[in-house]
Amino acid sequence: MKIHEYQARRLLEEYGIPTPRGEVASTPEEARRIGEELGGAVVVKAQVHAGGRGKAGGIKLVDTPDEAGRAAAEMLGRPLVTHQTGATGVMVSRVLVVERTDIARELYLGIVVDADAGVPVVMASGEGGVEIEQVAEETPEKIVRATGHPVLGLSPYRARDLAYALRLGPDLVRPTADLASRLYRLFVEKDCSLAEINPLAITGDGRVLALDAKLAFEDDALFRHPELRDLGDPTQEDEFELRARKASLSFVKLEGGRVGCMVNGAGLAMATMDITGTAGAAPANFLDVGGGADENQIAEAFRIIVSDPDVKAIFINLFGGILRCDVAARGIAAAAGDKGRQLPLVALMRGTNADEGRRILLGTGLDVRLVDDLAHATGALADALEQGAAQ
Ligand code: GDP
Ligand code: MN
Repeated sequence: MKIHEYQARRLLEEYGIPTPRGEVASTPEEARRIGEELGGAVVVKAQVHAGGRGKAGGIKLVDTPDEAGRAAAEMLGRPLVTHQTGATGVMVSRVLVVERTDIARELYLGIVVDADAGVPVVMASGEGGVEIEQVAEETPEKIVRATGHPVLGLSPYRARDLAYALRLGPDLVRPTADLASRLYRLFVEKDCSLAEINPLAITGDGRVLALDAKLAFEDDALFRHPELRDLGDPTQEDEFELRARKASLSFVKLEGGRVGCMVNGAGLAMATMDITGTAGAAPANFLDVGGGADENQIAEAFRIIVSDPDVKAIFINLFGGILRCDVAARGIAAAAGDKGRQLPLVALMRGTNADEGRRILLGTGLDVRLVDDLAHATGALADALEQGAAQ
């Protein structure tokens, strides 16, 4: 689960990480008033669950309260399109108004879980403000790392090493190391999947200040953080992903593909995507209906796939176990009765009640191509895509 910058700032403050003064506003008038309280020279920042706001017009530096109001009016109530959002963008319902900081230097500080090492890793760079992905690609030596420990956390000496490696002035090493330690503690205690401050600013008067705050939490750990539960914002999420989550399905929209996939089990789903992708039938989504899905969930899964305009053909790859093939096929048949878009379908069904499942699929009236293995599925998919694209 992601949260907005204005919410993440509060958590940072709870952990003693300095941030510029500011307030969140949902109307231009509120933004103007906050601008007035802060003395006029402020930054107005669109609150969306996506980065890249600076270049997209989602961050405006202004000199007067009236300008703050106008900047807010331009952002509020319309979608912001950044390189991290889709082409339709995400809706801006709030702006953050913060005092303008005199920035001497912009740094990057981020924490993620290193899946190989199984511990959080702190990354920092003297090249803040810009895309950290770009730094990682072009000048990876400019990113310094400090690894945490599952029990001991981030040792003070590692935090100091990290700060030294950024080549800050001697007075800045201690506050920067301290800030990194606090962010690390937040990351662990709140079960974050990402904690990122970009830019972390060195101010003209020599302070270290978090000018941005991106936090994301492990969904599976939210049950032990009632204080976080209400911070989510469904308006920022992909419509299909939201629908899928409501039906307890695991769905991720993928850009560029044309095959809607329905698979049970994450491992099978990933293998399916790899194999069909390599064969030129790139997936438009990742949809894992899971082990214990029922007929209604399958029907909803099928509807979600069909409503995605990018999808030109559907691939059903199910291994009947706890989820029996006939149950899955009944769910698909129920959704096929909606009389929505009729897309060609390739089905690979094995395991429990596969024969009955196949029979039910053939009775749906859909253009169904039954296959017995993945090798044949790729050929059938290419064929189905041609047919689907022609419709
Ligand atoms: P993001 O790319 O969407 O994460 O947007 P950021 O909040 O990181 O802002 C992008 C750029 O806007 C930063 O690199 C800064 O140069 C500038 N910026 C953001 N917040 C402030 C601020 O509070 N004061 C000043 N002076 N500049 C800011
Ligand atoms: Mn940022």
